Amino acid sequence: MTGFASSSFAPSLFAGQRFAVVGLGKNGLPAALALAGMGAAVVAWDDNAPARAALSAPPPGLIVQDPRAAGGDFDAIVLSPGIPHRLPQPHPIAVWAREAGIAILSDAELLYRAVRQSGSRARFVGITGTNGKSTTTALLAHVLRCADVPAEAGANLGPAALSLPLLPDNGVYVLEMSSYMLERLATLRFDAAAMLNLSVDHLDRHGDMAGYAMAKRAVFDRQRAGDLAVVGMDDPMSRDMAAWLRAQPARVAWVSGEATADVWCERGLLRDAQGVILPMAEAPTLPGSHNAQNAAAVAAMALYLGLDRATVAQGMRSYPGLPHRQQLVGTVDGIAFINDSKATNADAAQRALICYDRVIWIAGGMAKEDGIEPLVPLFPRIARAFLIGRDTPILAATLAVHGVDYVEAETLEAAVPLAAAAARATGGQVVLLSPACASWDQFTGYDQRGDRFAALVRGLEGGR
Ligand code: ADP
Repeated sequence: MTGFASSSFAPSLFAGQRFAVVGLGKNGLPAALALAGMGAAVVAWDDNAPARAALSAPPPGLIVQDPRAAGGDFDAIVLSPGIPHRLPQPHPIAVWAREAGIAILSDAELLYRAVRQSGSRARFVGITGTNGKSTTTALLAHVLRCADVPAEAGANLGPAALSLPLLPDNGVYVLEMSSYMLERLATLRFDAAAMLNLSVDHLDRHGDMAGYAMAKRAVFDRQRAGDLAVVGMDDPMSRDMAAWLRAQPARVAWVSGEATADVWCERGLLRDAQGVILPMAEAPTLPGSHNAQNAAAVAAMALYLGLDRATVAQGMRSYPGLPHRQQLVGTVDGIAFINDSKATNADAAQRALICYDRVIWIAGGMAKEDGIEPLVPLFPRIARAFLIGRDTPILAATLAVHGVDYVEAETLEAAVPLAAAAARATGGQVVLLSPACASWDQFTGYDQRGDRFAALVRGLEGGR
């Protein structure tokens, strides 16, 4: 295949194959529809009736039924990333699949099979890590498109892997891979793979840090000589992978937002051994050393994929940024309101807090294992904190021990006007929503939390 245009997969591509798709959410629903569209027989299921209702008029080839009751053989079961197959407790359908010897796969694996069966040699990039995955994924796809490379970004970031079109030989799929997705690959090999960083997260699903690190490391599985393995060196657990990586066939590129590496950022300059690629000040949507690390990973992969340095730099300058990641959503009376709702753990919030000398901080929700303890060194930057959500007592206790001024605001609706008033009273210039917590106690997800924050800020602007 040649040319630049993307196209649809052939309607008979998976004819004769039979799949179960379990969990009809963001990934499962498009997966079920795409597989049926490729000619497979699909049995789709979700334990929740409202989710099943999305398929009340299923297309040909698709039926809605519990696969355990459907009978017959399945080539594989596509289990949504949110449904555990091991820890904390395997879903009964996962137990059934394992006992029946049916492979449990992620939708990304089936995208890979569909692309290869279509005869396309499009390359695959996999990006994982505790934080920075979405930014790195979106940035690499943007930089590739700036170089006229047909590129599609998706998977964990959305759109779902199986919603992506068929790319030609010169195309690149840039897939954000959660540890759950990585556990369910069988043949997908990433030409370039990146593991950005590792910090405490998702231990309920992986048992312990070793299990979590193993799951993330799977992004490098099946790589061959000539492939590229990009690894962040800014945290100890990633650095600990050095010995293991040396034994792998792929070429390793270490990247850093702060210290000399293969591609790194030094005194604000993104560079490699050949010299400067870009002064990061020219990429205003990528603030902070964490984004410098993301940019270093992108530069390493883009150069490996054949782009020249000037195009990489140009792509970074024009990167529009993603919502909910240190996004400026409004300025009222000279006070900047920053939406960093995506910071669902302390490590992510730390990256945002470090960018500002003095902030009014809105935080809270469902705290992770270590609460906000990792943020203690940054507490002197917090003029006042406004706490929301379920784990307010946990956060309040840590703040109190360290003498940080805080208010239990309970909700975002209460916190935003209080934070605005506090900024005015103290001459603060930044109100930062960077919750360091998951959002599920009060919101449907971090995106709803961020959207609500932005709407409340617009309300302040309107009411001024
Ligand atoms: P992910 O998709 O892994 O959750 P995002 O790119 O959406 O990552 O960024 C989420 C948050 O994580 C950001 O708001 C920022 O605070 C933090 N972050 C981004 N990149 C990094 C990085 N390389 N290292 C540590 N934290 C980061």
